[in-house]
Amino acid sequence: MRKLLMVRYGEIYLKGLNRPFFLKALVKRVRDAAKPFGGQVWLHDARVFISDMNDAEGCMERVSKVFGVHSIAPAIEMEKDDFEGICEQANELMRGLSGTFKVEARRSDKHYFLDSPQINAKVGEYVLMRNEDHLKVDVRKPEHVLSIEIRDQAYLYCRVYPAVGGMPVGTGGKAALLLSGGIDSPVAGYMIAKRGVQLIAVHYHSFPYTSEFAKQKVLDLAKILSEYCCGIRVYVVPFTDIQMQIHEKCPEDYTTLIMRRYMMRIAERIAQKEEALALITGESVGQVASQTIEALTVTNEVVHMPVFRPLIGFDKIDIMEYARKIGTYETSILPYEDCCTVFTPRHPATKPKMALIEKGEAALDQEALIRAAVDNAEIVEL
Ligand code: ATP
Ligand code: MG
Repeated sequence: MRKLLMVRYGEIYLKGLNRPFFLKALVKRVRDAAKPFGGQVWLHDARVFISDMNDAEGCMERVSKVFGVHSIAPAIEMEKDDFEGICEQANELMRGLSGTFKVEARRSDKHYFLDSPQINAKVGEYVLMRNEDHLKVDVRKPEHVLSIEIRDQAYLYCRVYPAVGGMPVGTGGKAALLLSGGIDSPVAGYMIAKRGVQLIAVHYHSFPYTSEFAKQKVLDLAKILSEYCCGIRVYVVPFTDIQMQIHEKCPEDYTTLIMRRYMMRIAERIAQKEEALALITGESVGQVASQTIEALTVTNEVVHMPVFRPLIGFDKIDIMEYARKIGTYETSILPYEDCCTVFTPRHPATKPKMALIEKGEAALDQEALIRAAVDNAEIVEL
């Protein structure tokens, strides 16, 4: 008999011939997550198992953040032929609980000497007889479910903890997240990473108009994301020169859009260097002037890569809720400035004219500005 964590995966079940590729990635991610806890990790019979961890609670907490993991159950593994022992362990698991319960047996070993209803009945009776004063059977809506899986061993558990779900990071290629210090972009990055995409982050920093605190806040956000995303490389791109030149040489109403076009171009350049295949932003239709459909169109058209905007149809209030859930909200609301909030025009164009943007941009040496920004970016590994 031994205690272990039984990790279930979700959507990977739906994969066909390439399921081994996803499982290999999942096991690697779980192994990395369990390593600080000394846990041994292996895949067996459609489950990932972790044993020998020095801190089971801590390990479970960490592994529940691994994309691809659907749920985790602290389980007891036993010899399946020792049915008396199974009943005793079932009793051990249940006797500290009170209320209603049922036993739910499943057999992948169809030759086992009892079928599932028989296991349910026998174990249920055994537990009930010893705990009649505080446990009652309810097969319809029980408060506790004692699960017994008969595989090549027997596994018993009565608590299942939900995990993040999604797909293992790295199975979906790489993308570059435009990461501000706001509420939206960390959530957008999380959503795409959850689909198995490895992230790099690009942050535009306008020192001294934006402070060291503002930069640190973004790195703190990236650090929170990195726990889910198996590490993030952050490019902190100096943006002051570009913003100053736009401010001096371009029509005021268009400065925000031209700035956003530069953000996209530079991010694409960095993405190409990193062999990333897409860009990610936290934009949502209609949230601000630069996120009208017309404005999104003019910022979108300067790049060739697909741009993922997973929040495009989300209300701000729902994004805030999501940010709380993933743990970025409290950092995002710290009151430091973003480069988007310096030099903001009084009347930003919401229905921009392409000709005016192009005329404004003609005053800038685009290639030199992009190259200087990329070459002078500071790279931080988190
Ligand atoms: P967020 O909450 O993500 O900052 P927002 O609602 O404040 O979004 P904007 O400031 O218009 O919206 O920015 C839209 C998107 O542009 C952001 O979601 C982010 O992807 C990107 N972005 C904005 N500022 C920066 C920055 N300083 N560095 C990198 N990307 C940025
Ligand atoms: Mg912002």
